[in-house]
Amino acid sequence: MKIVTDERCTGYDYPGHPERPERIGLTVEKLRAQTELPIEWASPGPAQDREILRAHTPEHLGRLDEPRDFDLDTPFFPGISGYARASVGAALEALRSARSGQVAFSLMRPPGHHAMRARAMGFCYLNNVAIAVLAALADGCKRVAVYDFDVHHGNGTEAILLNKPGAALFSIHQYPCYPGTGTRNLGKNCFNYPVPPETARIEYRHVLASALEQLKAFKPDLVAVSAGFDCYNHDPLAQMTLEAEDFYWLGQSFHHLGVPVFSALEGGYSRELPDLILAFLKGLDGQ
Ligand SMILES: [Zn+2]
Repeated sequence: MKIVTDERCTGYDYPGHPERPERIGLTVEKLRAQTELPIEWASPGPAQDREILRAHTPEHLGRLDEPRDFDLDTPFFPGISGYARASVGAALEALRSARSGQVAFSLMRPPGHHAMRARAMGFCYLNNVAIAVLAALADGCKRVAVYDFDVHHGNGTEAILLNKPGAALFSIHQYPCYPGTGTRNLGKNCFNYPVPPETARIEYRHVLASALEQLKAFKPDLVAVSAGFDCYNHDPLAQMTLEAEDFYWLGQSFHHLGVPVFSALEGGYSRELPDLILAFLKGLDGQ
């Protein structure tokens, strides 16, 4: 199991904002302290402009250096473009690891799945997973599927990958909820599974499982996971019902797919986030 992280990603902070540096810091502590899961630590690789520009406009990339907030959820921070690039670099490193046969998880912030081609939103500045998927397709992968189990719709990933040959998105999310999209399938390749708030855990598991069956039917040669742990029962930002063992089950399900898989952290704002991530990783590792 390779974990790609960089302690510098905890260097920006907005007091009271749910997307806080402790999310990563406490998870790194937890993973370093445990002994059940052998971990190889890695740093993010570089993220080249040409890779980012497959998913984003040059204007958007330039905008990240302009010191103005993007929206109410998504403040400007000094150096945010560097943080966002490092998070992209970690997703790309996780992708490379997966393609060379290692299971990899990018444990970074900022998250990415709300970032649109020309707009930062929802705590996201650059779309880490979409950039990695486009890199994989440019580098010989034929069919790449994204499975997004963050409780919020992966609207940015959807907008960037819509009708992109070789790509498919399966997003399972709470609706109604931020950002208010993802109520129906879009184009030829974006499949949405909206689930009402407070849906019973067992029913939510059924929806996750049926999305997984559809992902298998797509016959991907690579799977990218937008791993958001805010569908957890006690997450403060949503009203879903999953428990730690469900994240273990999700990890196990990806382990059994039999194709290279890499994951990148999206949301997850509860105190138990480190335990949820460890459960997911154990499943991914086939434990
Ligand atoms: Zn989320």
